[in-house]
Amino acid sequence: MRLNTLYNNKFAVSFEIFPPKTAEGEKNLWKELDILSSHKPDFVSVTYGAGGTTRVKTLEIALKVRDKYGIPPLVHFTCVGAGKNEIEAYLQEVKSHGIENILALRGDPPVGESRFTPHPDGFSHASELIDFIKSINGFTIAAAGYPEGHLEAPDLDTDIDNLKKKVDAGAQFIITQLFYNNDAFYDFMDSVEKKGIGVPIIPGIMPVTSLAQIQKITGLCGASVPDRLLGILKSCGSKDSICEAGLDYSIEQCHELKTWGVPGFHIYTINKSMAVTRIMDALGL
Ligand code: FAD
Repeated sequence: MRLNTLYNNKFAVSFEIFPPKTAEGEKNLWKELDILSSHKPDFVSVTYGAGGTTRVKTLEIALKVRDKYGIPPLVHFTCVGAGKNEIEAYLQEVKSHGIENILALRGDPPVGESRFTPHPDGFSHASELIDFIKSINGFTIAAAGYPEGHLEAPDLDTDIDNLKKKVDAGAQFIITQLFYNNDAFYDFMDSVEKKGIGVPIIPGIMPVTSLAQIQKITGLCGASVPDRLLGILKSCGSKDSICEAGLDYSIEQCHELKTWGVPGFHIYTINKSMAVTRIMDALGL
C-alpha cells in the first residue's frame, strides 16, 4: 500500500524498528512486534544500517512485517558508499518485492569521519537521491527533517531551505528527528510554512525511559533536553521512577502535539513495546 495519501483523512501513527544484530535480538523483535502490531500502526519503518550494513536484513524484516501482520512497511535507505548503478539495483530489488514506500536519506559519514564524502558516482545530498528515486517510478518517498537543525547545517534557516529542496525533488512527507522541546517544533513549523513547504511533517517521538538514554541520543543528534525534563528525571530516586516520570513527560508531549494539530506520530520504538503501549493507551490511540 502506497503511503502518499495516508495523512489526508486521518491521524496516522507509525513505528520505527531496526534490524537486530543477533539471532536473539531478532527473536525478541518478533515478540515485541506481536504486541506493537496489536496497536494497528499505519506503517512500520525499518532502518538501514550505517553504510548499508543491513541492506539484506532491512528488506527481509520489512517483508516479514508486511506478510506476517499485514502492515505496510516503509524501508529506510541511505546513499552512503553507493554509486548510481548499485542504488538502482537495490531499488529495483525492493520494488520487485512489492515494497512501495521508501525513506530516502543521505546517511551519516562513517565513524571517525566528520564530513560526508559522496561516492564518486553517487549523491551528495538526500534531495539528489530523491530525484533519482522519483525517476524510477513506483515509490512513495519520505525524507528526514530536523526541528532543531541538522548537526552539519550552519543554521536552522539554511537547513529548512535544504528541507524544501527535498520536498521540491519529490518527498511526499517528512518524518522528523526526535525532539523533546515542543516549542522548538512549533517554531520550526512556522518557518516551514513560511518557506512554502506543504507536505505533512510527522514528529518523531522517542519515549523517555531513562536519563542515560536521552543524554546519549541527544548528544549524538544535537536535539536539546529542556531543563524541565532534566529536572523531573534528576529528582527521581530510582530507575523505575525515572521511567515512569519519563513516560508521563512523553505522554504529555504527544498530547500537546496532537492538540496543536500534528498529522500523526512516528514513534522510535527501539524494538520495544512497553513504552509505546503506555503512550498509545494514554492517548486512546
Ligand atoms: P540531507 O538532507 O542531505 O542533509 C544533510 C546535511 O546537508 C544537512 O546539514 C543539510 O542542511 C545539508 N544539505 C542538504 N541538501 C543540501 C544542498 N543541496 N546543499 C547544501 N547542503 C545541503 N541514518 C541511517 O544511517 N539509517 C537510517 O535508517 C536512518 N533513518 C533516519 C530516520 C529519520 C526520521 C531521521 C531524522 C534520520 C535518520 N537517519 C538514518 C540519520 C540520517 O542519515 C542523518 O541525519 C544524516 O546525517 C542526514 O541525512 P539526510 O537525509 O537528512 O541528509
